[in-house]
Amino acid sequence: MIINGVSVSPGSNTRVKANIARLASGTLIDLPVYVFRSKRPGPVVLLSGGLHGDEINGIEIVRRMIEDSLLEKLNRGTVVAVPVMNIYGFLNFSREVPDGKDINRSFPGNAGGSLASRVANFMSKQVLPAVDFGVDFHTGGASRFNFPQVRYAASDQNAAEIARAFGAPLLLESPFIEKSLRKQAFKGGASIIVYEGGESLRIDEEVIREGLNGAMRLLHHHKMIDYAPPSAAKAVACKGSTWLRAKRSGIYKGLIKSGMAVNKGDVIGRITDPFGEFSVKIKSTTTGFVLGHNNMPVVNQGDALLHIGTSTG
Ligand SMILES: [Zn+2]
Repeated sequence: MIINGVSVSPGSNTRVKANIARLASGTLIDLPVYVFRSKRPGPVVLLSGGLHGDEINGIEIVRRMIEDSLLEKLNRGTVVAVPVMNIYGFLNFSREVPDGKDINRSFPGNAGGSLASRVANFMSKQVLPAVDFGVDFHTGGASRFNFPQVRYAASDQNAAEIARAFGAPLLLESPFIEKSLRKQAFKGGASIIVYEGGESLRIDEEVIREGLNGAMRLLHHHKMIDYAPPSAAKAVACKGSTWLRAKRSGIYKGLIKSGMAVNKGDVIGRITDPFGEFSVKIKSTTTGFVLGHNNMPVVNQGDALLHIGTSTG
């Protein structure tokens, strides 16, 4: 196996450093890729985080996988671990790179392009061709909490199996997004599922634990490690989702959080103005399972309050 010109032979563990670009200060930015190879052949699994640089739970999940000596003694196959794909965003506490571009909308990328395009190009050319399947770890956005969940394209049969082996509490069918890492991998024959949990710029131990356990279950399912914790409960599966949005601007006090079921007509919270002039109940317009909720107390008309999974089973 060759990653970025470095040959990784069976039975060896290596850290490959990719030079992506320099910061304006002249500092060279390295993107570290950890490769753990068993002597025995088997699948090549990608575990990646920090494609959005402010999504720390995902970075922490991959970091703990590296810290764990389990990856150093795989029974078969290979794990390619990339904890932080967007080093620039990680340093800047931001989802994007400094020019405002989202790496996950920049695939397949270009070696001579802008920062986002260069990172996408590195993943497309140097990492994804070696990969059979994997998990890309994400979180919700700013002040938007996601219940621990995996997302996969229903059109990708392998991804559905990977999602089941991962065993997250919630499975969501989610079509491919153009120019995303997941779509680029699929074009090359690799199936990537997306794990989502918690919110950006926050550490959430329960979310991290679910992600770690899921990654272990996936590796165990493919006989790469000897043990994985069983999944806690029967997963909720959703075939689609919809957003419940604020009809008024004001201060939002939610009663319903991620992981709860909601029925059409249920009161999910209240929006008030800051002066004591009005207070309105907000009712759900949908029946389903709450995938994500807003934690920002001040909302504007149209802002998302709840992300509700539909067609649950
Ligand atoms: Zn993300």
